[in-house]
Amino acid sequence: MEVSKTLCVNEEAADDCFPCLSHSDDKLLGNDPDYGNNNGCVSTNIVWHKCSVEKVDRQELLKQKGCVIWITGLSGSGKSTVACAISRGLHARGKLTYVLDGDNVRHGLNRDLSFKVEDRAENIRRIGEVAKLFADSGVICIASLISPYIKDRDACRSLLPQGDFVEVFIDVPLPICEARDPKGLYKLARSGKIKGFTGIDDPYERPVNCEITLVPKTDGVCDSPDDMAGKVISYLEEKGYLQA
Ligand code: ADP
Repeated sequence: MEVSKTLCVNEEAADDCFPCLSHSDDKLLGNDPDYGNNNGCVSTNIVWHKCSVEKVDRQELLKQKGCVIWITGLSGSGKSTVACAISRGLHARGKLTYVLDGDNVRHGLNRDLSFKVEDRAENIRRIGEVAKLFADSGVICIASLISPYIKDRDACRSLLPQGDFVEVFIDVPLPICEARDPKGLYKLARSGKIKGFTGIDDPYERPVNCEITLVPKTDGVCDSPDDMAGKVISYLEEKGYLQA
């Protein structure tokens, strides 16, 4: 993957700025295609400190491979429910998971962010970075947030080594989500009390290259959350993520 020095704010100081620079170690540089794009730092005089206990060691300890399951879809499509079902299913198999739920993270780390366009992007970027750290720790991290724009989701994908970002699209159509409306948000959006609501007056960009799509049956009835979770868990098993 080509890592551009132009992403550094201070071009002059670029050679001090991990991982935009250095010319010897492509992995540290972020140039290793298996390692993902790790660039974009704006600080200077920062040097990466390597630790002798690495991801591979943590994975060996946990008997699993760290990765990110990124669940996207409209509000009310079932993201949080399925995220918890995946977590429960994996936990029962002795696998360590952590759920990063968009709404929950807004209670803490992202409490300073609103729903305006640039704050939504920052919300996703931060969750992507945190998810990356969880994956590096060896944990199977399940991020569940609307993340309506392809660009933002792809930016998070690019942070992870190839294959370690598993995008799961819960493709439940708007009428079903709106009929569920568990938090009454669609009602508020339809009445104009919430502006810029995804699916109503803000777009949702459907994934074009996701690993897993979960769709309702032809009669519009959805599989149970546990059945949906089972498909994701089978995928992880097939790809070798449930062993070190
Ligand atoms: P999101 O996180 O996408 O906003 P939620 O997980 O909060 O969605 O789910 C929205 C509503 O849909 C909840 O009332 C939940 O019980 C219901 N739900 C979630 N998954 C399913 C499913 N597979 N089948 C039927 N109802 C579901």
